[in-house]
Amino acid sequence: MKAHTEKGVLCDLCGKPGARLRHVSRSYGSGRSLLIVENVPVTSCPHCGESYLSAEAALELDRIRENSRKYAVTREVPVVQFGESDAA
Ligand SMILES: [Zn+2]
Repeated sequence: MKAHTEKGVLCDLCGKPGARLRHVSRSYGSGRSLLIVENVPVTSCPHCGESYLSAEAALELDRIRENSRKYAVTREVPVVQFGESDAA
């Protein structure tokens, strides 16, 4: 077990302290098969610039994606294609 401290955790990749646990939204697929998973815990390291999931988080994501019909709620959300602003 890694120690979780105010200073952040040790990076799994470069081993330096200061990696931060963040919660982000991830999206999978596109169009009608788009699935958005919110609140995914991601460790991001300012030293090597990597963001990665813990093994447990990756397993949970696999479970969610395999059973997305069971867990997902359908929400109406605004979606924009990149490049569709008036400045383009
Ligand atoms: Zn690192």
